[in-house]
Amino acid sequence: MIVMEPEATEAQIAAVRARLETTGVHVLVLPGEMTTAIGAIGDPQGVRELGLEGMEGVDRVVPISRPYKLASSELAHHEPTVFAVDGHTIGAASTFALIAGPCTVESREQTLRVAEAVAPHAAMLRGGAFKPRTSPFSFKGLGRPALEILAEARERTGLPVVTELTDLQQADAVAEVADVIQIGARNMQNYALLEVAGKLGRPVLLKRGLSSTLEELLMAADYVLKEGNDEVVLCERGIRTFETATRFTLDLGAIPWLKLHTHLPVIVDPSHAAGDRRLVEALARGAAAVGADGIIVEVHDEPEQAMCDGPQQLRTRDFPRFATEVLAHAALVGRRPSTG
Ligand code: PEP
Ligand code: MN
Repeated sequence: MIVMEPEATEAQIAAVRARLETTGVHVLVLPGEMTTAIGAIGDPQGVRELGLEGMEGVDRVVPISRPYKLASSELAHHEPTVFAVDGHTIGAASTFALIAGPCTVESREQTLRVAEAVAPHAAMLRGGAFKPRTSPFSFKGLGRPALEILAEARERTGLPVVTELTDLQQADAVAEVADVIQIGARNMQNYALLEVAGKLGRPVLLKRGLSSTLEELLMAADYVLKEGNDEVVLCERGIRTFETATRFTLDLGAIPWLKLHTHLPVIVDPSHAAGDRRLVEALARGAAAVGADGIIVEVHDEPEQAMCDGPQQLRTRDFPRFATEVLAHAALVGRRPSTG
């Protein structure tokens, strides 16, 4: 990272950029409040040999030691990334984003019922149109018709929509409807998909892989960030451990660790971690307590009939109380709901 002097001119910044580009490294200009930093990602030896310290306007050259670069808090001068989706702030220390909705869009009626039930409390609506399933014989979502249903749900409730992209071929269709594009746990290391997601002009919600380390999660985020998309939200959703009593082991320690090492917002998915609706509220309260920027939670009006993940989906009738409890815990750590 090249830190410019506070009084460096545009021409001096451009000159540093041009010199870096001769080596083929990835260059990113990061204007800050006081100074501009220029990220140069690639061969550190090549960058060292450029003699950048001697150039006009350059204050210092700081090597970034971590394997993840753009996601690293070192690169962002430790300033958190904060952005808004339709007026709903995410990433600010003072807000908490409650994202709720069905696991899967199963029908127009089901989706609209759930959307209307969560709307008074939630910042965003979740719902899968394309579902990545462990078995190829399971229901894979309604596909494109589900996107139209989500668009209608947004129109009726005003809630921005979070929906998953599973395949390069649907990228444009998903981007047209999604306010936030979800990359699921199973695709966290689908690098071609990450690069495409980075180009769609929508914020990306990136879920941690089932057996991925936090460093791997941040390197996956780098794939999206390097396409020029800096609106990335990370999501801890439970990992594989020796424990099988819960569906996955929710790694709550990941949240404060990520807060130290990355500038990106971090949310928690208590539903997929628990696999059992009776555990979801406790995990959601825990997420708020350890400093998450929000949660993404599954809600269904008839979970017994759900085509996917029935046991972990909260009932719509229980949602208002659930939301009140979780938001009260968020309030204890100084966060108010990020409703628009
Ligand atoms: C989901 O959120 O719908 C989902 C499939 O979650 P994950 O990718 O975390 O398994
Ligand atoms: Mn699900």
